[in-house]
Amino acid sequence: MTEGCLFCAIAAGAIPAAVVHADDQVLAFRDIAPTAPVHLLVIPRSHYPDIVSLTTAMPHLTGHLIDVAGRVAAAEGCAGGFRLVFNTGDDGGQTIGHVHAHVLGGRQLQWPPG
Ligand code: 5GP
Ligand code: ZN
Repeated sequence: MTEGCLFCAIAAGAIPAAVVHADDQVLAFRDIAPTAPVHLLVIPRSHYPDIVSLTTAMPHLTGHLIDVAGRVAAAEGCAGGFRLVFNTGDDGGQTIGHVHAHVLGGRQLQWPPG
């Protein structure tokens, strides 16, 4: 657990979240400020700053995280598709430095993003 990290605290159960999937490696929960009818976040329990550092260190964990993202999207009814986003770094719009996948769906999403 990294001191001061919000998502480490959520993974540890120290800060509540609306959890839709939990296993020994990853957690999926509802975004507190959803931007689509389905807006979930999927995180590894262990702290990595972003998707690149996670994948360099633990490629199988990235694979598991993406598998879980697909499963929770299906469980939320995203049969028509969904978007998987890893905002990365300041220019990428990342505001929390613990890697997380956004799972967005439940409506027709626009492209390109801003
Ligand atoms: P980022 O901007 O880093 O890609 O995404 C961070 C996401 O975390 C945002 O969509 C934001 O709404 C969400 N978020 C921030 N604080 C909390 C919180 O305390 N609980 C939950 N469930 N989501 C949060
Ligand atoms: Zn963390």
